[in-house]
Amino acid sequence: MRAAVAHERGAPLRIEEVLVRDPGPGEVRVRLVACGICASDLHAWRSGEGIAFPAVLGHEAAGVVEAVGSGVSEVAKGQPVVIAWIPRCGKCRGCRSGRTHLCAAMRTDGNDGSISIHGQSLGRYMSVAGLSEQVVVRARAAIPAPESLSLRSICPVGCGVTTGFGAAVITGAARWGESVAVFGCGCVGLSAIQGARVAGAGRIVAVDPNPARLRLAGDLGATDFVAPVDGDPVRAIHAMTEGGVDLAVEAVGNGTVAGQAFDALAPGGRAVVVGLPSYTEEVHVSMLSLLLDKSLHGSIHGSADPLRDFPKLFALAERGELRLEEMTGPDFSLENVNDAFEALASGRAVRPRVVFEESA
Ligand SMILES: [Zn+2]
Ligand SMILES: [Zn+2]
Repeated sequence: MRAAVAHERGAPLRIEEVLVRDPGPGEVRVRLVACGICASDLHAWRSGEGIAFPAVLGHEAAGVVEAVGSGVSEVAKGQPVVIAWIPRCGKCRGCRSGRTHLCAAMRTDGNDGSISIHGQSLGRYMSVAGLSEQVVVRARAAIPAPESLSLRSICPVGCGVTTGFGAAVITGAARWGESVAVFGCGCVGLSAIQGARVAGAGRIVAVDPNPARLRLAGDLGATDFVAPVDGDPVRAIHAMTEGGVDLAVEAVGNGTVAGQAFDALAPGGRAVVVGLPSYTEEVHVSMLSLLLDKSLHGSIHGSADPLRDFPKLFALAERGELRLEEMTGPDFSLENVNDAFEALASGRAVRPRVVFEESA
């Protein structure tokens, strides 16, 4: 089995022979078809935050169940799946309260010994390690996907799509007729725009310095566009929405932008921060402005429950209401994984994908 191994911060990933053990009780082994490269992979690899090297990155993985361990009833061999990085342990305070996105068992830097090289166990970023030809995960993390959708196109439902869509629709509770601003038009932001569209939002303002991304945002549902390089985005949003938006989503991971998202709100508005920041980033907001019934809300994975929400997203994709192909690609082989990271880092690609050879 081959995997792209990250040995140290920022050093090129190396394609190496690894050992992926058989699934134990309650586990499955999945042969991966495709894995999206998420901005969090890029962040962890560059910064060393939330990762213990050596490790295998990648957490937007889709594939086919290859083998099941004892006691597994959730899925059978041959089942197409998208892997969820929320463990859904079922026992912690978050899971017991129905908020499985707050599962206390969630680890970004876990290492369960399921994948190793020369006898050394490798870290599995976000408990997935999707840049490996096969992975072992808990059966309840393998969410069944319909045969009608290509695993390549739905792999980003594993993270970015659900995170953005959920930030707008679940955490932000977007309602019909509302005005929504989305800061940052990467995979997460574009998915938030699609969530707002599906929820029936009236005005959807896309904010991004990149003109190509704003065009794509328009194709996917944005009605108004702000390039922050042209001036203060907050002033522009207030001018075009008669005093601010009902909902703002920050999908950049930057404290200044999160402050702008809050400042773009009308009285009574909700700002949702979902972009992954560096671990020392802070956001400052006006207390006086908060008194106008405004809220600043954090969101992890769009407050989604993969078992509940992935099937809903798959159904929207089947009907063409959630458009994934426009946001994803180009495709890279595992050998060219470093080029995929470069395509994301440079902004050339919204969501580059690694497609595994056997299944190409
Ligand atoms: Zn839990
Ligand atoms: Zn991610």
